[in-house]
Parts: sequence; structure tokens; C-alpha cells
Amino acid sequence: MISSVSFIGLGGMGWHMASHLPKVCDNVKVWNRNFDKAEQHSRIFGTQAVSLQEAIHVDVIFSCLPTSADIEGLVHDLVLKPGTIWIDCTSGVPESAQKLSMQLAKQGVIYLDAPVSGQTIGAEKGTLTVMVAGDEIAFEKVKPIISAFAELIEYVGESGAGFSVKAINNMLMAVNLWSVAEGLCVLKAKGVQLGAALNCINHSSGRSGISENIFAQRIFSRTFEKTFALDLLQKDIGIAIDLMDQQYLQLQMMQLIHQQFAVVERAKAKEMDFSAVVKVLENTVKLKLC
Ligand code: NDP
Repeated sequence: MISSVSFIGLGGMGWHMASHLPKVCDNVKVWNRNFDKAEQHSRIFGTQAVSLQEAIHVDVIFSCLPTSADIEGLVHDLVLKPGTIWIDCTSGVPESAQKLSMQLAKQGVIYLDAPVSGQTIGAEKGTLTVMVAGDEIAFEKVKPIISAFAELIEYVGESGAGFSVKAINNMLMAVNLWSVAEGLCVLKAKGVQLGAALNCINHSSGRSGISENIFAQRIFSRTFEKTFALDLLQKDIGIAIDLMDQQYLQLQMMQLIHQQFAVVERAKAKEMDFSAVVKVLENTVKLKLC
């Protein structure tokens, strides 16, 4: 029986994901590197802000940090309780999932890679998609807990498969963002009214989550509201490119998108929402999508 859970990493995603856990478990602990956030979380959502040592002594640990390197740095030297299931919701690297899975198994801990999709709004509403990989019996056991913040929970295979699916999903999102922007640049150059054009596209076969939820809201409005940092998307595209290379595939669309997104240097990309990459295209063609 699962009687205690914890959430490590109360960032843009983790903050909301953890807020749903009290619906499915009475004993929810939270830890964040900047501890003020954990204390604030406990005041708002009725979770318990605890030390890292306390956060890892539970039945189920969730984590959602920027990268696999951050998770590996955190896990290093931790002494965990045998029987614990660690659900890592970071968008990470498949090889790291396999490595952590073997490393934690030595302590009797099961590691599942379980990245999420649906943006911060999906995390807030509890409607995320979760792609889970690793031990299938452990997955079945924790599925009701994950359902606190998810609409779709899919088991996708052996350790690392969740991170692989997530990386390809985000590659597709990047392709989509770039291609919608290119199409709209053509229409803008032709003198077509962009709001009307986007409305047509959003009711036609060219529509997508990106065309429906990002273009009018962040790009036409020029707010570029930051919910998902561009450097995190660059990281995901890099993971997808590594996957492609490991399969000895040379795929032009993926290579091209990798190059386009790499134009913004990482330090600058950390401060920008992913949607602001469209400015790179706008500068190249000397047009503004508004
Ligand atoms: P944020 O940058 O908003 O939050 C990162 C969190 O990780 C913060 O709580 C931060 O703590 C903590 N953290 C960072 N580095 C370390 C470290 N070395 N050790 C311990 N804690 C650390 O990121 P997001 O929430 O946006 O993203 C988290 C993951 O989810 C990423 O892998 C991302 O790709 C993925 N994702 C993001 C989505 C989005 O829309 N934002 C959508 C789907 C997936 P502190 O507060 O102290 O800085």
C-alpha cells in the first residue's frame, strides 16, 4: 500500500503537479532546492515542506528537474528505502534512465522514467499526458497516484522509452512551431491579415496544439510569456538528435530544426520562452508576425 509520497522540484511544472497529490494521498511531502518555494507550497496546498533526507523516505518519490544531469547529481550519495518507487518526470536522457534504474536497483528502489506533456497549464489543470517506462508491475502500482495530475497515462516500454517518446514529441513540437511561423511569414509578405489566416488554419487540416495555443496568445500579442524555457526545448531536440544518430539515421527535417534552434545561445535561451525562437525567423526574413 502506498501511504506516503514526495515531490522533488517545484518549478514551473512540479509546483502544479505536486499540488494535485493531496487528492490521492494524505501524506505528501515536498522539497525544493530554494526551500522558500517548498514552504510556500505547503501553505497553499496542504503539503509538508521537508528536508531532502525526509523527502526520500517515502513509498513513492516524484522528481521534475530540468535535466538528467541534475537528477544524477541529486541521486548521487542518497541512501534510499528499499521498496521505494522513484518516478522521474524530468524530460531526460534515455541512457540516464537505464543507468539510474540499475544504480537504484542496488538499493532495492525501482526507477521509472515518466516525462510529461501538456505545458504548465496542463499541470495546473491536472490534465497532463504521462509516458511511463520501466518495471511494468511498479507502473501499475503507481498509476492511481500519477492520475492525480494526468489525463492520459501510457506505458511505453522498457527503461528509457519514456524519455525517448518525450524527446521525439518535443522535436515534433519544434518542427511545428517553425513551420507554422514560416507559413505565416509567407502570408504576411503577401499582405494577408494574420488573425483571420490563423483562424482559418485553426479550423482546417493545418491546425495543431501550437497553432491553436501559442501563436495568437504569445507571438501575435508579442508577450512571449515564459512557461517553457527555450534552453529546455534545445535540450530535448538534442536528445532526439542523439536518438536518431544512435539508430544510424540521417533525417533532414530533424537536422534542420536542430540547427535552427541552436542559433540562440544556451544562456540567452534560458531566459526566453520557447515561442520566442520565432524572432530568429522574423529577423532572417525581416518580417514581424503581428
Ligand atoms: P523550471 O526551471 O521551472 O524548474 C526547475 C526546478 O528544478 C526548480 O524547482 C529548481 O529549483 C529545480 N532544480 C534545478 N536544478 C536543480 C538541481 N541541480 N538540483 C535540485 N533542484 C534543481 O523547469 P520546468 O518545471 O519548466 O521543467 C522541468 C522539467 O519538465 C524539464 O525537464 C522540462 O523539459 C520538462 N517539461 C517542462 C514543461 C513546461 O511547459 N515548462 C512541459 C513539459 C515538460 P529552484 O527553484 O531552486 O531553482
